[in-house]
Amino acid sequence: MLAGPGRVELVTCPRPEPGPNEVRVAYAGSGVCGSSLPVWQGRPWFQYPLAPGVPGHEGWGHVEAVGTGVDGLAAGTRVAVYADGAFAEAGVVAADCVVPLPDGLGDQPFPGEALGCGFNIAARSDFRPGQTVAVVGVGFLGAVVVALAARAGARVVAISRRPFALDVARQMGAAEVVALDGADRIVGAVRELNDGRLCDRVVEAVGAQEPLDLAGQLTRERGRLVIAGFHQDGPRTVDLQLWNWRGLDIVNAHERDPQVAVAGIRAAVDAVSAGWLDPAQLCTHAFSLDRLGEALDAMVERPDGFLKAVVTT
Ligand SMILES: [Zn+2]
Repeated sequence: MLAGPGRVELVTCPRPEPGPNEVRVAYAGSGVCGSSLPVWQGRPWFQYPLAPGVPGHEGWGHVEAVGTGVDGLAAGTRVAVYADGAFAEAGVVAADCVVPLPDGLGDQPFPGEALGCGFNIAARSDFRPGQTVAVVGVGFLGAVVVALAARAGARVVAISRRPFALDVARQMGAAEVVALDGADRIVGAVRELNDGRLCDRVVEAVGAQEPLDLAGQLTRERGRLVIAGFHQDGPRTVDLQLWNWRGLDIVNAHERDPQVAVAGIRAAVDAVSAGWLDPAQLCTHAFSLDRLGEALDAMVERPDGFLKAVVTT
């Protein structure tokens, strides 16, 4: 339980019974999401303590008990789920937010919501062959988006401040990598790599003001700027003068409909089963559940080589 900013307490609760159209999932683990950073650090608008298991929402595990009216989810089925409360040994989940995992995936970490988020961002980016796509920020999400843009046939320019992340981006299919430093230098470098042109698609995957500004500057006239970063720690400013002049399409690529998130997880399961995406490679730091505080700190501090922390039960 998140008892307060920066403070985790281990609490014992009764194992909940699934109601109609619900299952209880025994979690094997959950990813730690960058979107949980504000609630971990503390902001005036949060109320503590959070409910047990919250804000874990990238859980995977197996079905442990099945409520009435549930078809096709037997006890023992390995699953990824879209549900809050996954920093726990078990939780009750709506059956339509549960995605079975094929046996072939073994016991590797599967932070379904995070992977599905990448697939939904790619869907709203409309990547196509022949495009030049810039991805600003290569964390877990940026790395997935690089892979999906490259898979769609686009030429991907990955931009990150971390040399390690640029290596990851190349492995995921980026044709070019650029160090994230001054905006003017980066815009010049990208033009140089792209016959003087800016980018057809730019995905901002950091969630901070400066990368958002840079992403706008990198988007060509009538191009599409896709905001994938999580900008929920306060307001942002935008250069509407530039966006307006260039006639940019702006997409805020976060999904709020649970069934859209679930569809993203299904697409991710298909990709991982088919063997062209490896989530284990992107889950760089693992902590046992009783070390959740360290996992959340790792997300804040982002030590060298960090893409995503997972907690395992
Ligand atoms: Zn997440």
